[in-house]
Amino acid sequence: MPPINYQLSYWERESFFRDIDIAVIGSGIVGLSAALRARELAPSARVAVLERGPLPLGASTRNAGFACFGSVSELLDDIGNQGEGPVWALVERRWRGLQRLRQRLGDECIRYEGLGGFELFRPEEKERAERCAEAIAHFNRQVRPITGLAETYRLANQRIGDFGFRGASQLIWNAGEGQIHTGEMARALQEKALEAGVAIFNGLPVKALEELPNGVEIQTEYGWSFRAGSVLVATNGFARHLLPELFVRPARNQVLITAPLPGLPVRGCFHYDRGYFYFRNIDNRILLGGGRNLDEQGETTDEFGTTPLIRGALLRLLREVILPGREVAVESWWSGILGLGKEKAPIVRLVSPHVVAAVRLGGMGVAIGTLVGEEGAEVLVG
Ligand SMILES: Cc1cc2nc3c(=O)[nH]c(=O)nc-3n(C[C@H](O)[C@H](O)[C@H](O)COP(=O)(O)OP(=O)(O)OC[C@H]3O[C@@H](n4cnc5c(N)ncnc54)[C@H](O)[C@@H]3O)c2cc1C
Repeated sequence: MPPINYQLSYWERESFFRDIDIAVIGSGIVGLSAALRARELAPSARVAVLERGPLPLGASTRNAGFACFGSVSELLDDIGNQGEGPVWALVERRWRGLQRLRQRLGDECIRYEGLGGFELFRPEEKERAERCAEAIAHFNRQVRPITGLAETYRLANQRIGDFGFRGASQLIWNAGEGQIHTGEMARALQEKALEAGVAIFNGLPVKALEELPNGVEIQTEYGWSFRAGSVLVATNGFARHLLPELFVRPARNQVLITAPLPGLPVRGCFHYDRGYFYFRNIDNRILLGGGRNLDEQGETTDEFGTTPLIRGALLRLLREVILPGREVAVESWWSGILGLGKEKAPIVRLVSPHVVAAVRLGGMGVAIGTLVGEEGAEVLVG
């Protein structure tokens, strides 16, 4: 809980919080990408990022690091809800966002590995597995102009044995997917922003925004406020606190990481059950998360934490399917918060004369986040 009702000293106000042209709230992938782009577009502008946590405290440092753009079952589900047009448009933006992230930070720096993505099906999902297998040819035609690959999706059942899974009946390979090291990505973005002259204030929760004739009054949880010329809100799953008029629903995701597993045969990013579950290898460990669909109501929260129900489901998947018959210790658990909406497309728009929102990233914000931040900065500065 921040100490309340202290005031900034004259020195603090003059040297740190005066003449801020652009304030970005949130230092996740969107906020930092926006700040970087704002400095490029307006090199003389004073740009400051205001972050409530000691580190970003949402999704960008707590995710699974999939460089992904859509598994067949998740895209089929989305097409059922929204029709094809918006779905392929979003896939295109995810793909473009990923290329932009890789270009900005470099593959070596973010430890990008193009190992591919896999979607796993179990025998009880026979009907879904068949529908997905039938959709592959059509999906490949749709994504060819995006990925440039003749065959993005392909059945890969022969690889089930290589990975050692039990109770898996079908695998679909996605040749365009990869994985990154999330922590290195977040650190590199922060370093880039600092190098570009962006000021980052950590431990600074913003309480409210007030439009003024020439800018915005930013009220902090500490009881003091300051002005900025314009504001970009990049608080994703927490957006409703500052911008309750936007429809952004928080959704918690729980994650585990195992202790190192010598000789681990699993390599790549794996999606299961329409993207609700996901796992990958990292540093000879398995990172596994998801399962919020098992308790939709309980997981509609922006409070961090884990629950026995979802921990149990993740442990069963780990022990029965991913690493059957193997002694495995879980080293730690954590959670992160997504921002969701009725549609999957992010919100990037002016919400009042000097405030832009770049929020509601959904489950593939690593992919689309760079683009959304940059677009937000363009709306703000442009
Ligand atoms: C467990 C998990 C796994 C995921 N796995 C993947 C994946 O593998 N691939 C993928 O593409 N996507 C994944 N995602 C989604 C992806 O991580 C997010 O879409 C993306 O990180 C969102 O970035 P952001 O910058 O919009 O939000 P965030 O990273 O959540 O950043 C928002 C920031 O705003 C700050 N903030 C909030 N309120 C305030 C306030 N009032 N004042 C100041 N600061 C504030 C928060 O502390 C936070 O740092 C996953 C998400 C989770 C939770």
